[in-house]
Amino acid sequence: MSFHLYDSMRREKVPFEPLIPGKVAMYNCGPTVYSAAHIGNFRSFLFADVLRRWLEVSGYEVTQVMNITDVGHLRDDDPEQGADKMEEAAKKEQLDPWKIAEKYTALFFEDLDTLRIQRAHQYPRATDHIPQMIEQIQQLLDSGHAYEASGAVYYDVSSFPAYGRLSGNTGDDLIAGARVAVAEEKKDPRDFALWKSDPHHLMQWDSPFGRGFPGWHIECSAMSQSILGETLDLHTGGEDNVFPHHECEIAQAEGATGKPFVRHWMHARHLMLDGGKMSKSLGNLYTIGQLAEMGHDPVAVRFALLRVQYRQVLNFTLPGLEEAATAVRRLRLFATDMEEAAAGAEPGDPPAWLTAAVQRFDESMDDDLNTSGALDGVFTLMNEANRRKVTGPDAAAALAALRRMDRVLDVVREDAPEDLDAEVEDLVRRRTEARAAKDWATADEIRDRLAELGIELLDGKDGKVRWRRTGAGAS
Ligand SMILES: [Zn+2]
Repeated sequence: MSFHLYDSMRREKVPFEPLIPGKVAMYNCGPTVYSAAHIGNFRSFLFADVLRRWLEVSGYEVTQVMNITDVGHLRDDDPEQGADKMEEAAKKEQLDPWKIAEKYTALFFEDLDTLRIQRAHQYPRATDHIPQMIEQIQQLLDSGHAYEASGAVYYDVSSFPAYGRLSGNTGDDLIAGARVAVAEEKKDPRDFALWKSDPHHLMQWDSPFGRGFPGWHIECSAMSQSILGETLDLHTGGEDNVFPHHECEIAQAEGATGKPFVRHWMHARHLMLDGGKMSKSLGNLYTIGQLAEMGHDPVAVRFALLRVQYRQVLNFTLPGLEEAATAVRRLRLFATDMEEAAAGAEPGDPPAWLTAAVQRFDESMDDDLNTSGALDGVFTLMNEANRRKVTGPDAAAALAALRRMDRVLDVVREDAPEDLDAEVEDLVRRRTEARAAKDWATADEIRDRLAELGIELLDGKDGKVRWRRTGAGAS
């Protein structure tokens, strides 16, 4: 089987077909940097990470681009609120919006690293691409898809009959998406802003349409096309991006170029927290930093988010996170066991049970990135290897298969900050010396110190001491 995905536009599972065989141009809608992103946002970013990793393991050459929205907007997806979130945050934190963007962009990257989300090839910032947005708006004006009115530029929705096709929205639903700008100068209530003027807005630029700032949607169509070309292979986002954001992106991109914008759309479902809706206004959401402060292993968070396929509703709970931590510990212990059991042997031809487990993994990933099925494959591998008490080449083959799966999931690999490794290695060596000298007091003291660092020692049957992180350390 080859990679199949659920295409949100076609509303069915289809084979993945990039424009150029073997190459993938992928764009992911990124964060708006006015506050710390929460785990619900990270579910969508993690989905993009796993998608890219699976495509790469499958042999594709992927170019991944994710935007950083650092221009404040009256968010069309939040019509009731109507406030510009970047400016609100600026007022609340008494920083100018540029500083707010800088602060939360840095935090975003920190959280990506914490969750082991691979860096995209490019993270274009909206504020660095105002000329590209202006150019696309100009193209839309020239081709009759947009019009100017009272210092603003609006997209003329009636000029693009395909508007509404992605979301399936028609009539009144489409109007709801453009409710924020209830400007009277609009020709049609469905029309949405490409450029706005507001003398009070803190971020403003000069343009042929007057001094102002871009609409949110134009950012993604202008940046994705200027970096990846007119037609993208994959465009992803959270399901709340479908309308109006992605619908508007299509209208803008295809209106400007006359070419198909995206070959495949993919959208991650939202996250539930303790069975309820998670939202900023309810105040019931976790950031990655909060979970880390509570002592949770970020890799367990990654596991908990991957356990459910991206298109299914995921209910995030703290007990669920504990289970994820246990699963991660078991997998890591298994990897250590296999290393010991392989005893330096080269991987042999995979036995039938191993081939079946790998097949379960691969077929699940090829089936619209079914990560829960893929994890079944991982645990089948572990359970079968344990049950058979494999050694030598079979153990090495099991370990090699596990490592390949982990290139996609990245939940088994141990973090190995080098300075800490050196300290741990040194302590382990001193403890071995103390034991050899029968200085049990010192040996115990060192063991306690290692436990404080979150290091567990495994005294091997071969007399060698191995160690691993338990994630329970105090420092
Ligand atoms: Zn976007």
